[in-house]
Amino acid sequence: MFDVAVIGAGAAGMMCAAVAGQRGLRVVLVDHAQRLAEKIRISGGGRCNFTNIGAGPANFLSENPHFCRSALAGYTPQDFLALLKRHRIAWHEKHRGQLFCDDSSESIIDMLRAECDAGAVQWRMNCPVAEIGHGEQGYTLHTGQGTIRAAKLVVATGGMAIPQLGATDFGLKIARQFGLKVVEPRPALVPLTFDAAQWQPLSELSGVALEVGLHTGQGKARGEFLEDLLFTHRGLSGPAILQISSFWKPGEPIVVDLAPGRDLAAELLASKSGNRQQLHTVLGGLWPKRLADRWLHLAEQAGKPGLAALRLADAPDKTLRALAQDIHQWTLVPSGTAGYKKAEVMRGGVDTRGLDQKSMQAKAVPGLYFIGETVDVTGWLGGYNFQWAWASGVACGRAL
Ligand code: FAD
Repeated sequence: MFDVAVIGAGAAGMMCAAVAGQRGLRVVLVDHAQRLAEKIRISGGGRCNFTNIGAGPANFLSENPHFCRSALAGYTPQDFLALLKRHRIAWHEKHRGQLFCDDSSESIIDMLRAECDAGAVQWRMNCPVAEIGHGEQGYTLHTGQGTIRAAKLVVATGGMAIPQLGATDFGLKIARQFGLKVVEPRPALVPLTFDAAQWQPLSELSGVALEVGLHTGQGKARGEFLEDLLFTHRGLSGPAILQISSFWKPGEPIVVDLAPGRDLAAELLASKSGNRQQLHTVLGGLWPKRLADRWLHLAEQAGKPGLAALRLADAPDKTLRALAQDIHQWTLVPSGTAGYKKAEVMRGGVDTRGLDQKSMQAKAVPGLYFIGETVDVTGWLGGYNFQWAWASGVACGRAL
């Protein structure tokens, strides 16, 4: 009989097990995968963007945006950095507060394993859980390695992104089994796709990258970012699209500003007088040449013949204003997302209104806890999702 069984030896599960074990609880950590923490291993291109120095509640999406406050305040990026220091793990800031390991993400896994060992956590890897029972004595896990009994159960099985790495909806199934509500899950931090025929004229821009502003949604559901955009054969990707994908709802447009931070109409009109440059040269100074050529070619096809060769001095003001507006407000309606196979995280999950924000315990089911990505708290791109995994894991580990 254990005090605590944690299902899911990923970021949140290992953190929680280590904290609980070091407090003297008898903890068993169960995972169906052969290797622990596969997502930490592949994260951040193998260097794990393990936190963001500016992480705060505003960087997370949830139907209940205040839920994450307490856990995030109780375990901050600075706390995680102190842990790294104790384990002599070197790190650096890349940009926008994103912190990465100098060497490999393996060092984070080794650190968490060592922390679990310091708490005498018992490992059950390669151990699928078929069924969970609940009685007066606590929880019974029927697993591929026999029956495990524990007074308390922590569910840390993550989200559904990258099923090829063993991601499942197990956490959501357990939530439903015990009568908790689930906010509809969907892929997030994911490339957006477009109707193949519609995208075809833009597919040759594959590989073009530039910084853009973009937004989608209204009111509280509005997402707005300044990030790098990447054109692909099938649609758009890069950090800009991954960020906005978490806010995008099917059928809604996204609006891309291809000249962020500028007033293109004013610039074009101000430099017009006596300017013999053709518009393709002007836009070529603003963007990668391939994009400038394609943009003007498509505008010509859409009823503005001769636009590319038009000299700035000869261009009517109305034409320049319309061109600037199209560039600042390129409006597209994606047909969908590239799905869980390409997503970095799952949006939605266990409804936080059924959980206690200090302990992560289900309000209506004593001894049952949910942490990490399984919960309806989704971070922006840039280290926020790991910070939530650490913080929710620690909050739970302390409360168990
Ligand atoms: P996970 O780390 O996914 O752990 C869940 C564990 O549960 C896994 O070990 C899994 O095997 C186990 N499990 C699942 N189902 C079952 C089951 N039925 N029975 C038993 N065990 C089960 N976030 C960042 O902040 N920074 C990054 O750089 C970053 N890079 C990423 C790159 C990629 C390609 C991906 C896919 C994600 C990335 N993320 C990143 C997101 C981050 O990895 C997750 O948000 C984080 O790992 C969630 O932690 P977790 O502990 O909740 O779940």
